[in-house]
Amino acid sequence: MNYQSTRGGQKDITAAGAIKQGIARDGGLFVPESIPRLTPALLEELRGKDYCGRAESIMALYLTDFSPAEIAACVNGAYGGDAFDHPHKAPLTRLDHGLYVQELWHGPTGAFKDMALQMLPQLMSASVEHTGEHDHIVILVATSGDTGKAALEGFRDVPGTSIVVFYPAEGVSQVQQRQMITQRGKNVHVIAVEGNFDDAQNGVKRIFADGELRERLAKNGIRLSSANSINWGRLLPQIVYYVSAWLDLLNEGAIQEGDSINLAVPTGNFGNILAAWYARAMGLPVHKLICASNANNVLTEFLHTGHYDRKRPFTKTLSPSMDILISSNLERLLYELSSRDHVRVQGWMSDLQIKGEYQVEEDVRQRLGDLFVAGWADDFTTRQAVRDCWEEYGYLLDTHTAVAWHIYREYSVKSGDKHPAVIVSTASPYKFADSVAAALPGASLPGHDEFQCLYDLQAFSGCPIPAPL
Ligand SMILES: *Cc1c(COP(=O)(O)O)cnc(C)c1O
Repeated sequence: MNYQSTRGGQKDITAAGAIKQGIARDGGLFVPESIPRLTPALLEELRGKDYCGRAESIMALYLTDFSPAEIAACVNGAYGGDAFDHPHKAPLTRLDHGLYVQELWHGPTGAFKDMALQMLPQLMSASVEHTGEHDHIVILVATSGDTGKAALEGFRDVPGTSIVVFYPAEGVSQVQQRQMITQRGKNVHVIAVEGNFDDAQNGVKRIFADGELRERLAKNGIRLSSANSINWGRLLPQIVYYVSAWLDLLNEGAIQEGDSINLAVPTGNFGNILAAWYARAMGLPVHKLICASNANNVLTEFLHTGHYDRKRPFTKTLSPSMDILISSNLERLLYELSSRDHVRVQGWMSDLQIKGEYQVEEDVRQRLGDLFVAGWADDFTTRQAVRDCWEEYGYLLDTHTAVAWHIYREYSVKSGDKHPAVIVSTASPYKFADSVAAALPGASLPGHDEFQCLYDLQAFSGCPIPAPL
């Protein structure tokens, strides 16, 4: 299986090459040249496997230049140790008949980014070895808060790599900032950027696109790569947990073979929900992909109208990891939905860069509308969702997951859609303890800071604070 750029400038790149490089030379993103099938027989085989076994089989479909032993070593390095505090890695919790939450935050930093960022350094090291190069890899990361810490944890002291994280000085929570600037490791660097996440991400993208810089670094044995979800090696491990969720529902008897489910995903950069799209494209029975946004609702508008318009105020919300106006991974989806028309993709992306907006044509808009349900929630509604879920189910949602919970509820009431649903939970409620506590009457005392709120929330809910936090 080879990889190609969404902008047509590179093709026939091996998986190892695509992972090592991160982003394509023409500014596009690498995508697999075909999408492998999850046949009923394969799903049946995966059903009996644990999370690591499922990860090995699914990743092998995309990493055809890796040996089974190499893939097994990567999976073991990522999920085999004690970095995750739950044996199922991505467990489902049942809230109600046909309503589940998939907890993707049992890794070392309390956010779903760990699912991919524990794996990416493994894939990166293996890819470098594979291509017989001895360059020092410098990972550049722009973060809205959660990626930074998860990437630092994943890459710290990984031989042959260094990592530099750029975060928006005013855009991350105290817990997130503290997590990053206290990072241990000999190869880690953390830099605050004046601006918001998009400024940080644009800066990093400019560095990658700078050919002169690339040559100068190469002369000194240094090669830049990315740990943002523009790297295929980050997206791939995320496909696994969607397949795993469906298999778990099957094993539980909540669904029968072939039954479709709905997936509701709190969305920012469009990486997580794109992985769900890939799982569906591979043949996983998924009915609707529910794309949940906060007040930075550029994706809601786009999925409804086909008009992407980043020219709007950037809003800081209670779900800061979704405070994004340029959702990079959308480019991969547009490539697929335009029947891989890289000329059209180039046009849209250059409109976005120059005019700050683009409009897809009716064929693409219709395909988007068939697959996705989109909605957004403001901070008031998000708080209310945290409270409602606690009162109805005794289950604590973080402020990102709460957005998805609300959009799902709104959709299911309005549409009457009865497919079993999985709400994808992207962070531990403790990662955003002050916002969660503030949403629950009586949970904490006014004036308590983020750190005191952790303990307040624990005393209030009886759920233990994850050890890493
Ligand atoms: C990163 C993040 C998101 C958004 O995920 P994308 O893949 O960027 O769409 C949502 N919730 C949390 C907690 C996150 O850290």
